[in-house]
Amino acid sequence: MNSGIEQPEQTAQLGETLIEVENLKKHYGGGGMFESSSVKAVDGVSFSIQRGETLGLVGESGCGKSTLGRTLVRLEEATEGTISFDGTDITTLSGDELKTWRRNAQMVFQDPESSLNDRMTVGEIIREPLDAHDWKTKTERQERVLDLLTSVGLREEHYYRYPHQFSGGQRQRVGIARALALEPEFLVLDEPVSALDVSVQAKIITLLEDLQEEFDLTYLFIAHDLAVVRHICDRVAVMYLGKMMEISDTEAVYADAHNPYTRSLLSAIPHPDPSTSSHRITLPGTPPSPRDPPTGCQFSTRCPAKIRPEGYKHVDEAVWDAIERFREVVRERSRMSLSTVDRLKRQLGSFSAYDDIDETVTDLFGDLDVPTDVSEHIETAAGLVKEGRPADARDHLNDTFNGACDLKRPDFHPVGEHNHMSYCHRHESDYEDVTPVITRRTSDS
Ligand code: ADP
Ligand code: MG
Repeated sequence: MNSGIEQPEQTAQLGETLIEVENLKKHYGGGGMFESSSVKAVDGVSFSIQRGETLGLVGESGCGKSTLGRTLVRLEEATEGTISFDGTDITTLSGDELKTWRRNAQMVFQDPESSLNDRMTVGEIIREPLDAHDWKTKTERQERVLDLLTSVGLREEHYYRYPHQFSGGQRQRVGIARALALEPEFLVLDEPVSALDVSVQAKIITLLEDLQEEFDLTYLFIAHDLAVVRHICDRVAVMYLGKMMEISDTEAVYADAHNPYTRSLLSAIPHPDPSTSSHRITLPGTPPSPRDPPTGCQFSTRCPAKIRPEGYKHVDEAVWDAIERFREVVRERSRMSLSTVDRLKRQLGSFSAYDDIDETVTDLFGDLDVPTDVSEHIETAAGLVKEGRPADARDHLNDTFNGACDLKRPDFHPVGEHNHMSYCHRHESDYEDVTPVITRRTSDS
């Protein structure tokens, strides 16, 4: 195939780019004097979606998947960046142009329980977008709804029923019919089966596959774990704290993940044969707040493959983990002195915000053999916290323990084949590759 000779243009349709996203950001709040505290729900992502493909989007709850999906269909305004749809940047559309474009891109929501208006009949719910866009005549609209009911596996007599008379799976069929009403090209499916029983999930997924085939649809399929998307997606993108960590063909992500975050997500999928699932990576700590993401790599505070600074490479894994957790506690303290609201809201693992710092040190380091070039800095930091100077303590720990991953954002590196990309400093030639590091860490636990 790839002979190095330019392929002629006429290969068209499948494989052609439908959506091209560049440096997309969606920040909530902030602006003016509160700029620094905006929620960076999506923080600079670039990727494309080919016409007719299903791109999976996975990541833990709160990482920005729904925000990205809503921004792609213009239910949210982008803060920065462009979304080019069939060559047109849709982030700048407004008025009639926006209204016309909206037909092309629709969304199916996670919870069929709450996303349908219970006071409208199923027929009215599906017809509503047609009415809103003044689609053809009233009779044609009615006929269209009846067709759609059949397409999604419901029956014509369901037209006059109400959502509460339906099961979860049937309600999700109604949601899908409504999304299809205006003949869109692109659908964002936001965890469309997460709220359904497993047996129903399979049926809805089959329906979505059949509809894609029948109507030439392009999907962004959002899921919180990697298990669901494997069969339906052509490619998968993995998100963490507003950032795309890895993107590639589905099988490459499963068989040959390069990003430490993807690897830990994959290791969390229950294995059919428990005796072979020994390489489970348990992520330490909690995800940082998207109001105050790490300066360097978003994943740096929890990464099992984090690059250590010179001078600390010899330190035991357990001690290094304790250092990272201690830094997390001190960081939280310094945040709290800035914000009393956050002080009430945030808790860190088992350490309540009000625990005494000495107790934290004992909890974390008490059972470990801590070298003096570590303990002296921990003691200095603990002392600063006790003096009421948590920000200075944080800075001291930063100066001592910061490595490449803390200091700068990684680049998105090509890895493997087929446009496989991963966001990690480990892919730079100066550092050891991810694999040996992660293997060392998982084999001794
Ligand atoms: P996911 O779908 O991956 O669970 P979301 O996109 O819903 O994540 O949320 C990403 C982050 O943005 C979360 O921290 C969430 O609290 C925040 N967020 C989402 N919507 C809003 C909003 N309208 N205003 C403020 N913050 C929001
Ligand atoms: Mg969501």
